[in-house]
Amino acid sequence: MADQIRVRFAPSPTGFLHVGGARTALYNWLLARRTGGVFVLRIEDTDRERSSGEMTQAILDGMTWLGLNWDEGPVHQADGLERHKGEVGRLLAAGSAYRCFCTPEELQARRDIMKEEYRYDRRCAAIPADESARRAESGERFAVRFRVPEGDTAWDDEVHGETRFKNESIEDFIILRTDGTPIYNLAVVSDDIDMRITHVIRGDDHIANTPKQILLYQAMGAAVPRFAHLPMILGPDGKRLSKRHGATAVGQYAEQGILPQAMNNFLALLGWNAGDDVEVMTMTELTERFSLDRVNKKSAVFDTAKLEWM
Ligand code: GLU
Repeated sequence: MADQIRVRFAPSPTGFLHVGGARTALYNWLLARRTGGVFVLRIEDTDRERSSGEMTQAILDGMTWLGLNWDEGPVHQADGLERHKGEVGRLLAAGSAYRCFCTPEELQARRDIMKEEYRYDRRCAAIPADESARRAESGERFAVRFRVPEGDTAWDDEVHGETRFKNESIEDFIILRTDGTPIYNLAVVSDDIDMRITHVIRGDDHIANTPKQILLYQAMGAAVPRFAHLPMILGPDGKRLSKRHGATAVGQYAEQGILPQAMNNFLALLGWNAGDDVEVMTMTELTERFSLDRVNKKSAVFDTAKLEWM
């Protein structure tokens, strides 16, 4: 089925499944279920120090409690390391990326002078390919940077509408660190292409990553998916929701005896509305009614008083 919608939930297992992550998972799941699409679960565990198997299990448990079953996965991002490195090699060979031999000390010295104005000055972009290969061969340490083209990068966000960045505001970002590990944006794009993801639905804290990811898709010759960036969730005091605001891990609600159906209903209405005053919906009703064009642009406020009566 060529037009089948494929979405993914891609948590980093560095903490429990929290309210924001659960909402992202739910919206992805609802879109997949409404359209007969595929919901993929990907565990973004490339940060070995901060990820743990225990947290992965806690996320799976939280999703299972909510009934958000996945069709494919869990795929562990760390297992894709060789594929991610292969992409970097292809970008290098195509000239879309280049080796940067600047040392951390050199970069820091330039950063100290330029302060907020600092952007990588592209001095390694001009090194001829054969010289660059020779230096790498001789054991000189290097990172790989993406060569950001001129122009603008824009997309029609399913929530925010037309969103545009000037490429000159994006520096030639690193895609492979000096220790040979690919960075987050590269791994995400490589995996989303590999999984044939058609819609990327995630928190709007990722908006600044999106132009970089689109540039990577284009350089890799892959179709760019649709993006939907979900509004931020605020605590009742208007500040970004965090542990300060009390229970933010989904498991805490399970322990309190809240029913998963009530939790899903509550999460669904955190930044989305059904277009009428109906506030209590079954999972089937939510699935029938869910659509990205009713996701609010404005931040959502987390008020557990509502959860009590749902
Ligand atoms: N792993 C990222 C996070 O937990 C999500 C990446 C994405 O959805 O593109 O914030």
